Amino acid sequence: MPLCLPTRRRLLAALAVACAAHAAPTIAADPVLNLYSARHYQTDEALYSDFTKRTGIRINRIEAGDEALLERLRTEGRNSPADVLLLVDAARLWRAQVDGMFQPVRSKVLDSRIPEHLRGKDDGGGAEWFAFSTRARVIVHNKASVKPGQVATYESLADPALKGKVCTRSGTHPYMLSLIGAISEHVGEAKAEQWARGVVANFARSPRGGDTDQIKAVATGECGVALTNTYYLVRMMRSEAAADKDAISKIGMVWPNQQSWGTHVNVSGGGVMRNAPNREAAIRFLEYLASDPAQAYLAEGNNEWPVVASAVMKNPVLDALGKFKADTLPIAQVGRAQITAAKIIDRVGWR
Ligand code: FE
Repeated sequence: MPLCLPTRRRLLAALAVACAAHAAPTIAADPVLNLYSARHYQTDEALYSDFTKRTGIRINRIEAGDEALLERLRTEGRNSPADVLLLVDAARLWRAQVDGMFQPVRSKVLDSRIPEHLRGKDDGGGAEWFAFSTRARVIVHNKASVKPGQVATYESLADPALKGKVCTRSGTHPYMLSLIGAISEHVGEAKAEQWARGVVANFARSPRGGDTDQIKAVATGECGVALTNTYYLVRMMRSEAAADKDAISKIGMVWPNQQSWGTHVNVSGGGVMRNAPNREAAIRFLEYLASDPAQAYLAEGNNEWPVVASAVMKNPVLDALGKFKADTLPIAQVGRAQITAAKIIDRVGWR
């Protein structure tokens, strides 16, 4: 192999240069982190500048919706400058993992601070993504037309007594895929499909709009009952707008399945990209997100809960929703269950 030696020599020379650069931080460029985030909240600004202040690592941020970010990453492929990707919902995080976007991370800080069921495991025992905040998917009902006792469980949404009263967003949305997938994990695919068929039979209208639209339609009485993530409800509860105050006065909220497996909880989270140019900075950033102050910022920014037990956050309106029994199904299992959920919604026509 006559080519081998010179090639190898060149490689070694290149490595020596690279190592020298590494060993001389004074001549290195300012450390940076390229962050792709589907989050866009004011409090996140404080979060990022705090990270830079503590570590000297500057953050370049690309913010867009989840789907737009994923599309961009697919287009950029191996040449993507992204170091960290933050997404919402286990369905999207798991999909990104399966698409090979993340690399496994082993970190004592993350392992000790993020509960095990809130990590997106890889086969090697590390995690490819981590949850940094949680939200619950709850039932809201019109106080005049539906009693809370009628909608104590997700299962109850298929009760024939609620015919013409149930509203949801599209079954294809990640929030619905995750919930339907979780239900399927608990009761089995056949029963989950039977349930989904019952929900579709109870629709007050074809699925449309986001969670806030469901809440508003419950308030007007167009829908008797609907599903929403808690932060949309709390956002409306904190609103000073007269229309929002009026809507909130018309609706009640139920923590579903308190006598059985608990209310479905989902996450926002993120991981280190497979080809992250700044891997060290990326891991430091994730570890920072798991710190007490960052956890408070993250959760507060979108009326969510921190995942780290010791983090303290002041959100009286969120606290006013009360305590509840949360489903403890591992979040990676929820993400994977979307495959079954997608088949179910196809079969029952929950579009
Ligand atoms: Fe959302």
